[in-house]
Amino acid sequence: MVLDESELKEEQRLILRGIKELLDKYGESYWQEVDNKNEYPSRFVDEFAKAGFMGAVIPEEYGGSGLGLTEASIILEEINANGGNAQPFHGQYYLSWLVSKFASNYIKDQYLPKLARGEIRMQSMALTEAEAGSDMTKVKTFAEKRDGKYVINGNKIFISRVKYSDLIVVVARTTPYENVEKKTDGLSIFVVDLRQTKGIVINEIKTMFNSQTYELFFENVEVPEENLIGDEGKGFSYIMHALNPERILIASECIGDARWFIGKAVGYAKIRNVFGRPIGQNQGVQFPIAKVYAELVAADAVRLKAAKLYDSGMEDMKKIGELANIAKYLASECAWEAANVTMDTYGGYGMAVDTGIERKFRASRLYKVAPVSNNLVLAYIAHNVLGIPKSY
Ligand SMILES: Cc1cc2nc3c(=O)[nH]c(=O)nc-3n(C[C@H](O)[C@H](O)[C@H](O)COP(=O)(O)OP(=O)(O)OC[C@H]3O[C@@H](n4cnc5c(N)ncnc54)[C@H](O)[C@@H]3O)c2cc1C
Repeated sequence: MVLDESELKEEQRLILRGIKELLDKYGESYWQEVDNKNEYPSRFVDEFAKAGFMGAVIPEEYGGSGLGLTEASIILEEINANGGNAQPFHGQYYLSWLVSKFASNYIKDQYLPKLARGEIRMQSMALTEAEAGSDMTKVKTFAEKRDGKYVINGNKIFISRVKYSDLIVVVARTTPYENVEKKTDGLSIFVVDLRQTKGIVINEIKTMFNSQTYELFFENVEVPEENLIGDEGKGFSYIMHALNPERILIASECIGDARWFIGKAVGYAKIRNVFGRPIGQNQGVQFPIAKVYAELVAADAVRLKAAKLYDSGMEDMKKIGELANIAKYLASECAWEAANVTMDTYGGYGMAVDTGIERKFRASRLYKVAPVSNNLVLAYIAHNVLGIPKSY
């Protein structure tokens, strides 16, 4: 609908065809079933990996396909636009870029080929902490260097997919907040290999949708010093490099959700007859759908612009940050608006589980809050783009 296939390059068209073929084998009933059972979509994830999509963005020299953010966006958007949920994949994509760009050759050689082959997974970054909330500089999880390794203590909250991941990326302080000149200094990031690591307690947090989210407790967790990504204390800048593509990928999932909702609303508005005519003939029903469609086209354009800028290799982090944040904001608001419009269009039937509307409605609410809340996105735009005095 939104994706104009004629605009795509031949390679992108092939990727789109490949992911559509995979999705067609599952259908919406699969996503409904895993949601009803609150299960991780293991079958789909396995096949996604076998088809090579897990290694899509890993550089070719490590056995991946070396695709860019635009192609990754197409893949994730299509999953959500077909009634699915691409959550298990965005983490692997942006963390693959993070590791490819900033990790040592040792880390890259050890993990990237296996990630590319789909033998192992790296699906989550453990950043959020209960006390710090949106203020990531206040994380307290601490990694102390001792005898050639780091020893991590602390806790994290709302960390996704940990039980289905072999590797996670953990954000910790290596210098306490009180001892740094700039509050963004003294943060470091580590690849933690869960298969070989002891001391992490993982408890599930049940959420309003099928998310596989956990709280983590680190007690004297030993990580080899080689697993530090980049320089100690400079983690904040690496995280920023990861968060911009993350925001663009999230925007793509939201655009996929909005496409799905609008498709459902349009279809139902045409066939549901009340008072002797299709409900869509009423402007009270058709205008909200038309309005959110217009918003979708706008969000899509910003998302593609952001993805193309990132792929161009341009190092202007400020410009990429601006577009990535705006794309995430517009797309998440659009998906949520589309979810509500579709609920209204369906009347009572939107709440019937079998229509799938309430499932996607619950899931699409997340992205107004995570990975960064839209208030904080607006604060970013106000402070960093418009130069208005900081509110924090
Ligand atoms: C299902 C799920 C999965 C998640 N997965 C991950 C994950 O894999 N890894 C990870 O690290 N985190 C994850 N998160 C955490 C998520 O990123 C945070 O919930 C999010 O960043 C918001 O932090 P918070 O919940 O602590 O909200 P808070 O920071 O407590 O904010 C609460 C409210 O106050 C507002 N607010 C706070 N400060 C300001 C301000 N200065 N100006 C204006 N408004 C403000 C916020 O916008 C928000 O509306 C996940 C969360 C959920 C729910």
